[in-house]
Amino acid sequence: MRSISILGATGSVGEQTLDLVRRNPAEWNVVALTANSNVAALAASAREFGAQVAVVADESRLGELRDALAGSGIEAAAGRGALCEAASRPVDMTVAAIVGCAGLGPVMAAIEQGGTIALANKEALVSAGEVMTAAVARHGATLLPVDSEHNAIFQCLAGGRIEDVRSITLTASGGPLRTVDDLSAVTPEQAIAHPNWDMGAKISVDSATMFNKGLELIEAHHLFPVGLNRIRIVVHPQSVIHSMVEYRDGSTLAQLGPSDMRVPIASCLAWPARMDTPMAPLDLPAIGEMSFFAPDETRFPATRIAREAAEVGGAAPAVLNAANEIAVAAFLDRKIAFSRIAVVVEDVLNQGELPEAPRTLEDVLRVDEDARSRATRILEPA
Ligand code: NDP
Repeated sequence: MRSISILGATGSVGEQTLDLVRRNPAEWNVVALTANSNVAALAASAREFGAQVAVVADESRLGELRDALAGSGIEAAAGRGALCEAASRPVDMTVAAIVGCAGLGPVMAAIEQGGTIALANKEALVSAGEVMTAAVARHGATLLPVDSEHNAIFQCLAGGRIEDVRSITLTASGGPLRTVDDLSAVTPEQAIAHPNWDMGAKISVDSATMFNKGLELIEAHHLFPVGLNRIRIVVHPQSVIHSMVEYRDGSTLAQLGPSDMRVPIASCLAWPARMDTPMAPLDLPAIGEMSFFAPDETRFPATRIAREAAEVGGAAPAVLNAANEIAVAAFLDRKIAFSRIAVVVEDVLNQGELPEAPRTLEDVLRVDEDARSRATRILEPA
């Protein structure tokens, strides 16, 4: 039996992880499950899986969580400190599936206990960059990428040497708006309606703006040290090839599969072995054709902005991420037009001097907080 904690257990990735755990209950001992405010789903999963502790980030929900867990013997806790305490309990596997930089503290707490972290929470790695990769090395932790593209690259690199890699290609579906003419009139409902993947609201908007691919570019840069100029992006609307690695002898390895996050999650849960999933075999004749396009950075500038931020390095990726989180939330609240998201992010990045490169978790959180305030000020009506 292996022990597992799931941070962000009530979200899309969290629920899909629990679905895999449910199919192999004898293999897993669930330690911590966390949520932001969805007490009902958190308590139901904690009871179903016999978790040791359930944590809700929103402290005002603690009473509700205690009531929902009454008589179960499961600990109930609330607040950011409790989230980090739960994440720091030693386990064999932590699935980091909180959305946004809010997940950074808990991910760092999990890294400090030196276990294996299946990382979906890309914003944490984008913001903390070298601070996180250095902590992974210092504490002997293992980072396994859940993001389907990075998981594909990780699989294509198995048995290969990073110094033999000529390039890495991240595939992008192009999102639901790839062929939409007027981006200024796009509604949250349209932006969230992803053609291939069923995901949480924030990452769905990121896919529509292409900031998701921009964040993934920075994520890949930290996970696979081949140099930024060797990481490419190609639009592949069918989302069958999840990413590719080209070696110096001219061989390109690709990982293919259904657009279902349970495949990369299972690859992390079972790593380095494999486990069964309920996926139907890949039916290539049914897929028929696969197409590939260069990204259109005039209509979707996010990948250019992210590449520039990665080239600048230091605090820039954390600033980009924080500004994007604020702009996406404003778009989802119908306060700004879809086409303003990238403008706000670029304005925050270009406003004055960037803060110094963060060296500690506290530095990263300060940069994040400051960039959020600046983005919020830009969004306030004059
Ligand atoms: P969801 O919005 O579906 O779920 C987010 C989870 O995080 C929920 O459990 C939510 O709790 C919790 N949460 C939200 N805000 C906070 C907070 N401030 N503090 C603590 N917990 C919080 O997101 P997804 O599952 O779609 O995405 C999770 C991460 O995985 C993201 O970083 C995303 O980019 C990445 N990812 C997702 C993929 C997908 O297919 N969904 C694919 C690849 C990567 P509550 O339910 O209470 O709000």
